[in-house]
Amino acid sequence: MATTTATPKSGFYVEVTCPGCGSALNLESDFFVLRCDHCSSVHRVILPEVPSAFLIPAGIERREARFSIDRYLKQQGLPLTGSGMHLKQLYYPYWKVDAILFRLRNKVYEKVVMEEGEYNDAVTVSHDRTEISLSPYTTTRAAGVPFEGIPASIGMRTEYIKMVPFARENVQEEFDSFPVLSSWEDVRSALLMNVGVISDIDLSDIGSNVTELFHPKASLVYFPYLVMESYSQGGFNRYVVDGVSGRVLDHVTAVDSESQFEYPEAPTVEFGALTVEHHRCPTCGVDLPARQSYVYICRNCHELIVLCHNREVVSELHAAVVSEKNQDPMFPFWSLRVPEDRVAQLQKMFGGIHRSDRLIIPAFKSQNFDALFRLTKRMSAAIPQLELESLDKLDDRFLPVTVSPDEATMMTEVIIYRQGFSGERKTASEPAAFVPEDIGLVYVPFHPEHYFYVDSIMNVITFEKSLAR
Ligand SMILES: [Zn+2]
Ligand SMILES: [Zn+2]
Repeated sequence: MATTTATPKSGFYVEVTCPGCGSALNLESDFFVLRCDHCSSVHRVILPEVPSAFLIPAGIERREARFSIDRYLKQQGLPLTGSGMHLKQLYYPYWKVDAILFRLRNKVYEKVVMEEGEYNDAVTVSHDRTEISLSPYTTTRAAGVPFEGIPASIGMRTEYIKMVPFARENVQEEFDSFPVLSSWEDVRSALLMNVGVISDIDLSDIGSNVTELFHPKASLVYFPYLVMESYSQGGFNRYVVDGVSGRVLDHVTAVDSESQFEYPEAPTVEFGALTVEHHRCPTCGVDLPARQSYVYICRNCHELIVLCHNREVVSELHAAVVSEKNQDPMFPFWSLRVPEDRVAQLQKMFGGIHRSDRLIIPAFKSQNFDALFRLTKRMSAAIPQLELESLDKLDDRFLPVTVSPDEATMMTEVIIYRQGFSGERKTASEPAAFVPEDIGLVYVPFHPEHYFYVDSIMNVITFEKSLAR
């Protein structure tokens, strides 16, 4: 559970203060339970439901920015900066959006076949194939007043960038933070429109391609810039320097000053705060195990603890009944009850689940959507055949739950949408929201066999070992 690794990293991480001893804790994007390296206390991170705001602290100073600008000017064969340079240090806001991108591509594959016999010509045989992929999608978009020279997005970075919660005390005195001009709703609709464009330009060979964005989640990230301006070198010069890498990003020689200030009133954007609390049972205060999981049963008071915003959605824990001797690992699955008005539709869609009104989604993280999709269908069909018992304690055999009930609900939407493209139909309707009637958690034993895990009750459900990290 260490927070440091030897491998080089890129992307973003968040630094917060340990409530136990005050030292810095580094949070990876999917870190929600972690141990402090200094005082060994265990904490959990609660993300707010409204977007949270972060700040990337500037790593360079005026001197370095100036040096960087001079190097840039030298390369361009221009005179170096003189006196009269005015420095602006600013934090510029960007919306950072994390989502899941669903892509369906229809492709035609052609193969040239030589037929036997000297009088026959080569024949081209074609067959079509539908490829569906699901991948994480992250993007950043400028959220502040347009400012000539400031990039429209933070862009791909190779550095591992530290973010801290955006709070007045984290903004250095000499820096100004720009107000947020676009609301999350504006960005969301622009983004969805953009995704539509991706699918339009990527022409399909047959039928139509589909691109959908599932559950975009937003946060606001303030990025540091050092801007130097002067009128001394025969006109206006503005140099925009990246406050993290120190690179000169833009050299602006003319600014349409009119357009800079005529903007409507900035909307009031509300941000949530990320909180760090002791990882303890909320009922009796006993420490919970220091492992990443959304679900625990307190060893002291046997209270069921689910770490999510609407924790009351999870009613009960069940496990498939196994013999005393069986010590195989128990894999967790979310069991989502389909609302009554959709049962018939989904049973028809998924064929094999005709006896069930539940969809069974793996509750362990996986990168392979296709394998996860197949396992969901197999488990949903198999679950009515398993004898289940209620659980009141979890031991080491029970694997941690690394998919939240919200993520499981989102995956269900994607899986239903994906199933719409199976069989004869090549086009599905619009993705529909899925609101489960209730959510339960079911553990089923699996054992390893070669490259697979095989369920230990019926010996028929398999999934690739690589699916469970
Ligand atoms: Zn500590
Ligand atoms: Zn307790």
